[in-house]
Amino acid sequence: MRLPESRAEASALDALDPLARMRDAFLLPDGLVYLDGNSLGPLCRTARDRVARVVSEEWGRDLVRSWTLHGWIDLPSRVAAALAPLLGARADEIAVGDSTSVDLFKLLSAALRLRPDRPAILTEEGSFPTDLYVAEGLASLLGGRAEVRTVPRQGLREALAADVAVLLLTHVDFRTGEMHDARALGEAAHAAGALVLWDLSHSAGAVEVDLGAWEADLAVGCGYKYLNGGPGAPAFAWVARRHHAALRSPLQGWLGHADPFAFDPAYAPALGVARLQCGTPPILSLAALEEGVRLVASAGIGPLREKSVALTDLFAGLVERDLAVHGVTIASPRDPERRGSQVSLRHPEGYAVVQALVERGVVGDFRPPDLLRYGFAPAYVRFVDVWDAVAALGDVLASRAWDRPDLKRRAKVT
Ligand SMILES: *Cc1c(COP(=O)(O)O)cnc(C)c1O
Repeated sequence: MRLPESRAEASALDALDPLARMRDAFLLPDGLVYLDGNSLGPLCRTARDRVARVVSEEWGRDLVRSWTLHGWIDLPSRVAAALAPLLGARADEIAVGDSTSVDLFKLLSAALRLRPDRPAILTEEGSFPTDLYVAEGLASLLGGRAEVRTVPRQGLREALAADVAVLLLTHVDFRTGEMHDARALGEAAHAAGALVLWDLSHSAGAVEVDLGAWEADLAVGCGYKYLNGGPGAPAFAWVARRHHAALRSPLQGWLGHADPFAFDPAYAPALGVARLQCGTPPILSLAALEEGVRLVASAGIGPLREKSVALTDLFAGLVERDLAVHGVTIASPRDPERRGSQVSLRHPEGYAVVQALVERGVVGDFRPPDLLRYGFAPAYVRFVDVWDAVAALGDVLASRAWDRPDLKRRAKVT
């Protein structure tokens, strides 16, 4: 890509963008450059209207009849159906509900049962902490019948020993945006007799995911990032159909029963992934998530990914050209094939720099030790936003605007 020389040239790229109109579907504050959709996706108009309707007309007026009248009881499976094309999955392989952390617990436990003679969960050192914590918690619950083996990224293949039940990996690294070769790693896991479980939190809605073609076994992912489901949106759990018959959830709740309203004292699992549902689904959150997912799915992942690559290439190119003098380096892969929809930068005062930029209306986030993390959600980020972000960053670095005690004081959420 030839790098633009001016803001007008960056704007011209938006004029050629087939997805440009999609931004109007979101309620983004004027003048804000929002590069944190990988942490919390913005509100879309249809989600705002839908939630208002569900609150006032469905909950407010029709009350408990809404479970039937407005199809609340089938809402998790409707969201699953909307999500399926974004994951290369079948609708009946996806259960929507709970958080990513809870879904991980369910699927890791299921994986250990599917490989009962193998005690090890293999994962990498840089995994998202919740993945490590949940795996450790499960192993300690199982009292020594399971163990977590954490190795550096480069050592994963050699660590696929005969006692590994499941290889648990985050597809797109939350710090650097580096993307695993899912197909190759899945093949390696299978060759060693292990299952593979993908955490797709930074992938769903941002990069091409083809669970079927990858021959993956299990997956989980987040609803509030690139799927724009809203704060604390339900997550998803995916299980390949070939594992459904033997699938067991460790959280046997009444709504995962084959016939919940029979109120049978004996547990009998529902067919397929429906047994992963535990308790009553959060209808307000699911309504918002359904709208967010529908919107992203309507664009199709092909065009979204194409634009995402162009946005991240532009950002990385401008940073290299214009900001190298300020000591900023790029922590993400330069090869788009190996990169998700984010670009992370390194600066020793990363936290304060991110805060100084937020003050100027460019929102990203900070991840320790020194990463400035910028996500480029192709559904609403413009090429001119990339230009403005790099210009603001250059300004903050040149003027040392970050060098203020109040900007260095860490908030609870970074
Ligand atoms: C955001 C994220 C999660 C979120 O987990 P929750 O339980 O839904 O809060 C999990 N895994 C990864 C890799 C993430 O990036």
